Amino acid sequence: MGLKYSRRFLALVFIVVFANFHGLNYAEKAPKYSFIQEATSAPEVSFYDYIVIGGGTAGCPLAATLSTRDAKVLVLERGGSPYTNTTKIRMENFISTLTDDSPNSISQSFISEDRVPGNRARVLGGGTVINGGFYSRAETLFLKEAGIDEALANESYEWVEKKIVYKPRAFQWQTAVRNGLLEVGVLPDNGFTFAHLNGTKTSGTLFDKNGNRHTAADLLEYANPTMIKVYLHAVVHKITFTTKDGQRPKADGVIFYDANGGRHIAYSKHESNSRSEIILSAGAIGSPQLLMLSGIGPAARLRSLGIKVVLDQPMVGREMADKPSNGLLIPYPTHIPLSLITVVGINKISNYFESFNGFDLSDLSGSGGAQPQSSNPSQEAMANSTTNQAFLVQTIFGPISKGYLELQNTNVSDNPKLRFNYFQAAVDLRRCVSGMQTIINVVNSDSLSRFRFRNMTTQDLINMTVNRAANLRPRNPNATTSLEQYCIDTVMTFWHYHGGCQIRKVVDRDYKVLGLDQLRVIDASTFSFSPGTNPQATIMMLGR
Ligand code: FAD
Repeated sequence: MGLKYSRRFLALVFIVVFANFHGLNYAEKAPKYSFIQEATSAPEVSFYDYIVIGGGTAGCPLAATLSTRDAKVLVLERGGSPYTNTTKIRMENFISTLTDDSPNSISQSFISEDRVPGNRARVLGGGTVINGGFYSRAETLFLKEAGIDEALANESYEWVEKKIVYKPRAFQWQTAVRNGLLEVGVLPDNGFTFAHLNGTKTSGTLFDKNGNRHTAADLLEYANPTMIKVYLHAVVHKITFTTKDGQRPKADGVIFYDANGGRHIAYSKHESNSRSEIILSAGAIGSPQLLMLSGIGPAARLRSLGIKVVLDQPMVGREMADKPSNGLLIPYPTHIPLSLITVVGINKISNYFESFNGFDLSDLSGSGGAQPQSSNPSQEAMANSTTNQAFLVQTIFGPISKGYLELQNTNVSDNPKLRFNYFQAAVDLRRCVSGMQTIINVVNSDSLSRFRFRNMTTQDLINMTVNRAANLRPRNPNATTSLEQYCIDTVMTFWHYHGGCQIRKVVDRDYKVLGLDQLRVIDASTFSFSPGTNPQATIMMLGR
């Protein structure tokens, strides 16, 4: 009897340990969540304590957390499940997913007014399902400015890391870049760490050892399944408000449509009003867009589109920014395994250096891929092997340059008009030029020499990158001779869009929308600068 029970106990322990072991059971995890359903199964009218709009990078950890605080939580996500086709989101399919422009794609592409193509997520898990997977925490400056307690931030980062963050394996290309950065003085060598430190380090990744991606949707495993409901293909069109006797408008409901066009309304209602809230986590593009569509924004513009104004708030959609990325394409003579970013260099003036290899960047250009224009036939042959190449890229702190987001129409599924004004601020351009000089040094380092075609100079790489950089901007004749012009003409997105609902301008330090009740925004739209070298760690921490 005793033996029988202890065997059973051991078997149970084994199952629990096996099921929770980092990375195992990957394909089977979340599809079994009974609380994730198609929005077509939603009632016409429903009531929850908290309604989270957008099941993305911030939305998933936020909803999981709230559901364990004795609150009924609803998540409305416009996209589908990341678990339907896990091959599509593996590391090697990073670019092909971004270039899938079909109506049901998990990536919605857009071209900003800067003539730079970009992508936004349309799937449960948000940006973590389509991004480069690189995971690195924020600098302390960010926590201080946002008024976030450091100990609580660290606990929250750990909560995320335990579930979905991996120590990467040593990829040949990443090791070479790491050594090259150290060789040219991006010091010290910080080894493996999630912390934001000057120098060169290896950091975390969302990809496990088998190249499978783990996402913010996996954080829903932390949820209390009896207190949460997640609807997929639930496109939120509008937040509704009540306004009584001259009081501040109070957010009280959300109108959403399912995949069959069925209309639903969910109300945020609790006996004690302090428990009911609507939280907008639709991302840096989706959140300001949805605020405006709900009547919160610049009054004149909203009226011109026939939107009833709830609150004249000119700062909604202002101060939009994106980290610019510039770099060099480096074709190499022999095949090496592809890799996404696992190494970053941070220098004293806050240039961030990262790299990936084995992908064809020209697919991202939005023009079907510009062809290399080289006068040297042998170089053309080399350069034509578009996947035998790496991209060594630098981006900058901030940025200081800011743009705007404006509605083009009242269709929530259409992209709004976006302008980031890359390099409008002189300091951003100076940083780019200095970062490019370091990149040229790294490319010329001994560590990278065995990955170079011997007869291809850095000037050849500059010429080639001018032709291939993934944007639709005109090329100035001096783009190959002036690094300033090179930065301006070859700028690409680093996909770190932020702003539009900034702290102190649209939301207060508790992320509550100024001038309204029961409405918060929690996602990248609240940032005045992008945290750390890469923001996803901090966005998930914030959700938690
Ligand atoms: P999101 O994660 O985009 O979440 C918003 C969610 O809201 C989405 O799921 C969206 O479908 C949903 N939504 C929007 N509108 C509606 C609506 N009307 N109704 C219902 N749902 C709606 N960061 C890193 O740290 N490391 C990287 O390597 C990295 N690489 C990147 C590569 C790419 C291609 C991209 C696109 C981003 C990358 N980033 C990276 C940036 C990072 O992924 C994003 O900053 C982050 O995911 C944004 O989080 P968020 O919560 O603000 O928005």
